[in-house]
Amino acid sequence: MTVKFVCQKCGKETEVDMHYDKNIDGQVFNCAGCGARHVQIDEIKAPGAPVEMRFRLVDES
Ligand SMILES: [Zn+2]
Repeated sequence: MTVKFVCQKCGKETEVDMHYDKNIDGQVFNCAGCGARHVQIDEIKAPGAPVEMRFRLVDES
């Protein structure tokens, strides 16, 4: 699944290829620009709106 997301490290909007990580039981992706890893923390389901996923930055450096 490819989505547009604003990187929380470099601040650039990037197209990322999300994938499921069974260790955290959620979606993860790496920024295409700087490679920063993000993991899903939340999923917001508002009535009549598309599902919104929230991510947090994982700083591995
Ligand atoms: Zn980035």
